[in-house]
Amino acid sequence: MRLINDAIQECLSLSPCREVESLPLLEACGASLAADLVAERSLPLWDQSAMDGYAVRAEEATQGAVLSLGEIIPAGHWPQRSLKEGEAARIFTGAPLPEGSDAVVIQENVVPHSLSADQRVAMIKVESTAQRGDHIRVCGEELRAGTLISRSERTVTPGLLGLCASQGWTHLPVFKKPNVALLETGTELVEPGIPLSNAQIYASNATTLSPLIKLSGGQLLSSERVSDHVSEVVNKLNLLIDQGARLLITTGGVSVGDFDPIHQALEQLGATRSFWRVKMKPGKPISVATLDRGDDDPVLIIGLPGNPVSCVIGYLLFVHPLLQHLSGVPSQRLGLPRISCILDHDIEKRGHRAELFRVSLLPHREATQDARRIETWRCGLTGGQSSAWISSISQGDGLLYTSAPPASLKAGDRVEVALFPWSHILPNAHLFDE
Ligand code: AMP
Ligand code: MG
Repeated sequence: MRLINDAIQECLSLSPCREVESLPLLEACGASLAADLVAERSLPLWDQSAMDGYAVRAEEATQGAVLSLGEIIPAGHWPQRSLKEGEAARIFTGAPLPEGSDAVVIQENVVPHSLSADQRVAMIKVESTAQRGDHIRVCGEELRAGTLISRSERTVTPGLLGLCASQGWTHLPVFKKPNVALLETGTELVEPGIPLSNAQIYASNATTLSPLIKLSGGQLLSSERVSDHVSEVVNKLNLLIDQGARLLITTGGVSVGDFDPIHQALEQLGATRSFWRVKMKPGKPISVATLDRGDDDPVLIIGLPGNPVSCVIGYLLFVHPLLQHLSGVPSQRLGLPRISCILDHDIEKRGHRAELFRVSLLPHREATQDARRIETWRCGLTGGQSSAWISSISQGDGLLYTSAPPASLKAGDRVEVALFPWSHILPNAHLFDE
């Protein structure tokens, strides 16, 4: 029987190789970069105006100076000639500066001085002395070609995508989402929506795990269901492997009951079992095995228990970090985020296995000695902790872990809760107010 941490590390060590692909920018959002990104172009690309106004020589543009009006340079137009002495060029935000200019006077600080024969402004008068560099975005001031934009393993965010687009890039190298296949085993299971008969129940594990696989960074290839017949399980697993699944997750049939097909199925497949029990409650029976396909990259087959709570907890502890790793999450960020809470009530833990209680969180305001108020969290059990009660996962925000020896936790104790990946325990959102 493995300890939880050893089992997690062993799963990670059995992980297939990470794969890399090049994705169009928009499809890469949320993925992890598979290479360092280095700027190919400086930003801004060239010296440009930051305002609508007049490109000038600063030394000439003193208060009261009159300058003749030369070229008009809108954004998207390259200046056709350099600025002559005593001249200003009409320029707009984002347009390249003409050679010879070293400041922009904003249009609010200029008045027309004289008109040409066709009634256009021919001369302007400067109303406020310009300083060199005024309202100029200098080439490379934001980013120099050759500078590191982002490190490998960083998440591709909308902001980063914008920066990549401004480099002119269309694709990014990212870690490929690993292909995962789900297989629910259980002769008693029926698809939701179909009328039940006899001793049937509705299958729920695949419905819980499918969106979780996405949250963990995986790509759900297919989700299937089979009876407890060993041959059916073997055939289906073979089929899923042929379809390209690199990680197979089965649910149910993994203990040692007469009708539990997983162990026999793995044997018939020729898989190598690493371990099949973890010293934890719930979720002790969990099978981890690899199947060699004759290349360097074996398929990993993880058998989770059928009880809905054990199934989710086994997934969160062992599969979630594995999929995170495969999809490029750096090792220091693997696993569930933790939050410190104050326990609402006593918990007596009698068993000798590590235990994972389902808890819900409530925000709590606490007065400190200097009368400031601080925000913290309180947590309490979601109610019954049976491994069959999926409602305890549905009502919970996370897991309270207690290590192996019997222990008693007291109301008021500071504890750490590992948050479910879907939980949104965040400060209240608000719009900006003035
Ligand atoms: P097992 O691990 O196959 O012995 O199943 C343990 C319990 O979980 C039994 O009560 C099963 O009926 C139930 N169970 C197994 N698979 C599922 C599933 N996919 N959805 C809901 N309950 C399940
Ligand atoms: Mg079963």
